[in-house]
Amino acid sequence: MQYVSTRGGSEKLRAAQAIIRGIAGNRGLFVPEMFPSLPENFTDWTVLPYQEVAVRVLQPFLDDYPAEVLGQCVKSAYDDKFAAAEVAPLIKAGDTCFLELYHGRTAAFKDMALSLLPHLLTAALKQEDEQQQIAILTATSGDTGKAALEGFADVPGTQIVVLYPHVGVSQVQERQMTTQEGTNTHVFGIRGNFDDAQRAVKKLFNDESVAQKLGISGIRFSSANSINIGRLVPQVAYYVWAYLQMLKQEILKPGEAMNVVVPTGNFGNILAAWYAREMGLPVNRLICASNRNNVLTDFITTGTYDVRRNFHITTSPSMDILVSSNLERLLYHLSGGDSDQIKGFMQALETEGRYTVSSRIRKGLEGFYAGYADEAETREAIASLYQKHQYLMDPHTAVAHKVYRDFLQETGDTTPAVIAATASAYKFADTVTEALWGTPLGDGFAAVKELHQKTGVPIPVGLKGLEEKPVRHKTTLDQSGIETAVLDALKGS
Ligand SMILES: *Cc1c(COP(=O)(O)O)cnc(C)c1O
Repeated sequence: MQYVSTRGGSEKLRAAQAIIRGIAGNRGLFVPEMFPSLPENFTDWTVLPYQEVAVRVLQPFLDDYPAEVLGQCVKSAYDDKFAAAEVAPLIKAGDTCFLELYHGRTAAFKDMALSLLPHLLTAALKQEDEQQQIAILTATSGDTGKAALEGFADVPGTQIVVLYPHVGVSQVQERQMTTQEGTNTHVFGIRGNFDDAQRAVKKLFNDESVAQKLGISGIRFSSANSINIGRLVPQVAYYVWAYLQMLKQEILKPGEAMNVVVPTGNFGNILAAWYAREMGLPVNRLICASNRNNVLTDFITTGTYDVRRNFHITTSPSMDILVSSNLERLLYHLSGGDSDQIKGFMQALETEGRYTVSSRIRKGLEGFYAGYADEAETREAIASLYQKHQYLMDPHTAVAHKVYRDFLQETGDTTPAVIAATASAYKFADTVTEALWGTPLGDGFAAVKELHQKTGVPIPVGLKGLEEKPVRHKTTLDQSGIETAVLDALKGS
């Protein structure tokens, strides 16, 4: 398998090389040159544990990793760090299925990929005989940061820097990051939103003089954001897994298709579902759910991507994004690999704040349905599902549930659907308790206790005792101060 840049060039890389690099030199994203096919008998995999399914899905994407190395990486990733024996259980509530992706250490779906990425990266460094130290530079809208910190803390040969928006992330999310231990971890709040953080990261990646300054200290950057192909590919596995669980629970019969509903921000998770479909997984529609930052809803409906709009801080902060990076990968594939066209779109986005795609790409977008939920609708979804079925959703999952109900009403499409449940309700306990009982507590930690007392749902291990942990990272930066602070942190340790 070879990886090429969405923005062209003759470079073709092995998976290990693409994972080390994170992002292509011409600012493009690495994509697989072709999609492997699932074997015809993949439905026999219903008897396999998650780890085995993951190895089989990942192997053709990562075919430069020796089988025993890949097996060991997967085993180390999906061990008892996950609170559920199935790793990602498929739970039915009423007539809707939820794929619970949040049973890892940081209680959000980012753990599914970020438990594995450090192992893939360490193996890649060995395989490629890379001598430099890797500095993982990560922008986060709240969940990636903590999952990446947990994954990379004290991993030899790496340092990790996380930039998060100082206003916007939940109290629990912020405290998870600022209490992070590990001698190689650096965490900064920035005055700005996620798009600002992501832009700063991309700028640092592409700045020759920064690369030079780091190079002298024997350091090079890589990424733990979903722009890294090593983040994306592990996510494909759980859609195949979800299908297998639907068969096992006799919600589907062999050969029948499912719909997939994904609360979407940077477009990584839903793109992984689309990759699974390209591999031959029977998926009908991909339902892309947004919050009030509904730039993707408009794009999928009209073919025009337009970021010239207000940025809203919502109660589903991990989706508070206007520039969804991974969409570039989808456009590349749907255009038939036309990198000149992609360069044109991205150029227009930077200079004019908008672009309109070709009719060929629009045709490809027909596989998607898009919708959004506002704040009141999100709260209502949390409350009504809990009242009806005692099933607890976090605000991101609730956005997906609301959009799915709209989809049902609009299309009458009764194909069995799976909703990607992306976070534990406890990460957003203040929002969830307010939705359920109407009283904003104003304190995330008090809300965790109340939610537990009233629902009895277990508190994720990683969130217990969080408010007593010492805060280790206290710096908040202006955007103009990011470069210096990052360089100083990396070179200082
Ligand atoms: C990151 C995140 C999302 C958005 O996922 P993308 O892959 O960025 O589209 C949704 N929900 C939660 C809880 C997240 O942490």
